[in-house]
Amino acid sequence: MSVEIHIINERCKGCKICVEVCQADVLDIDEKPNTSGYNPPCVKTLEDCTICGLCEMLCPDFAIRVSCIEGENKQ
Ligand code: SF4
Ligand code: SF4
Repeated sequence: MSVEIHIINERCKGCKICVEVCQADVLDIDEKPNTSGYNPPCVKTLEDCTICGLCEMLCPDFAIRVSCIEGENKQ
């Protein structure tokens, strides 16, 4: 099983909750702001993601989605 993290940059308000809740330190802040001037997260180390789903659950703007892809090895 592998994981995909989909970030919807234009919905992000740059609150950094997703980055702070990630215990595996997968996410970082993108230096490039979106069109509203907020810096969205970016994926730093996808291979460390434990698929806990916290970033998706706690994002107030529904701007990050974590999906599992069945039938593939993680990494
Ligand atoms: S699913 Fe969990 S481990 Fe993966 S990026 Fe989100 S908070 Fe981090
Ligand atoms: S929690 Fe959502 S709104 Fe906040 S920085 Fe992360 S993706 Fe953006």
